[in-house]
Amino acid sequence: MSKLQFKKAFTQQEPIPEQAKKRVMELLDSGRLHRYNTVGSELSDAALLEQAFAHHQGRQYCLACTSGGYALHIALRAMGLTAGEAVLTNAYTLAPVPGAIHAAGGKPVLVEIDDNYHLDLADLALKAKASGARILLLSLMRGHIPNMDSLMALCNGLGLQVLEDCAHTMGGSWQGVKSGNFGQVAAFSLQTYKHLNTGEGGLVVTDDAQIAARMIMHSGSYMLYERHGATPSPEVFENIRLTSANMSGMSGRMDNIRAAIGLAQLPGLDNNCKRWNQRYTILNSVIAAIPGIDIPVRDARESFVGSSLQFRAEAIDMTQMPSFIAACAAQGVELKWFGENQPKAFTSRYDSWHYIDPMPHLPNTLKVLEKTLDLRVPLTFDDEDCYLIGAVIAQVMAQFTGK
Ligand SMILES: *Cc1c(COP(=O)(O)O)cnc(C)c1O
Repeated sequence: MSKLQFKKAFTQQEPIPEQAKKRVMELLDSGRLHRYNTVGSELSDAALLEQAFAHHQGRQYCLACTSGGYALHIALRAMGLTAGEAVLTNAYTLAPVPGAIHAAGGKPVLVEIDDNYHLDLADLALKAKASGARILLLSLMRGHIPNMDSLMALCNGLGLQVLEDCAHTMGGSWQGVKSGNFGQVAAFSLQTYKHLNTGEGGLVVTDDAQIAARMIMHSGSYMLYERHGATPSPEVFENIRLTSANMSGMSGRMDNIRAAIGLAQLPGLDNNCKRWNQRYTILNSVIAAIPGIDIPVRDARESFVGSSLQFRAEAIDMTQMPSFIAACAAQGVELKWFGENQPKAFTSRYDSWHYIDPMPHLPNTLKVLEKTLDLRVPLTFDDEDCYLIGAVIAQVMAQFTGK
């Protein structure tokens, strides 16, 4: 059989809605790009985005800032992280996550994942006790939402506060409760490949007035905190506004252009999540049926957003994996490998984060990542594209297994 060829780009996003273009032109004409450059009592686009997202999420407070990684950093500071304090987090995550802990002065303590890409609760309990950590930075890496009831019950029992990293779960939920509404604080990313695309950007939500006020001060709000969209009342700021910890220079404000771009996309988020899942469902059914490939079955209580798909090429060993990926790429299908021992592009395996000391050995995480390949699911792909991608992977797998 001749080689199938997929031709579309895995990096191609959809156009930004017309409404955003119109508003961005208005902002450019006005020159009022900074979030505090407002007239009278009007709310800036950055403040409006905070209001709209707090409402969407069903949380009281929201801060718009420069990135998801930055949001995690200031959330940790606002939660009272002290120098050298241990913070638990998933070993399977993106480098900015332990990076945020490190930047905030904490010590990342990596926890194993299970075969479903979720945090291993037994290892979490062990590491929580051994490290004395009081914060868990729960990374919902690649949108896998674990059983949040068991996880939160365990964290409550251990006295752990939870900071949710929802970079890939915006729009997702567990048993009808939105991802980002379980922990004390939750951070979202607006980077191009996440669920709202403003190029770069972050949103962080909480119901805790003290934490919200501290995060706003950290983000570089001068004394203009009243110009925020979903902010605690001015009295909450009285005690903290002049303390050095809150005035230290960590400017990371959202600007009005990116906020306008995000605002215009928010009403379409839920529908886009459905569109991602339509594509994911096709890819999942085709790829899971390929001999030599395994995709763990997801819990029916998890409403995930299928903006990427992870599968395990069980029939391919570590030494063959680079040529398997190269063969797929030659036929137009771009895969990422989380198990690679050399960090590449967006991905790096935990043991390449050398500043983590002591570096733990996490056999299950390594075992799972060794076989895990990742496929981005852009909304610019249609149903036929998804069938073709599945067929390409099947064809390459057949070459490798001789079946
Ligand atoms: C993208 C991402 C981040 C960081 O977000 P940035 O906006 O790129 O800083 C954090 N965690 C996960 C799981 C991500 O995918």
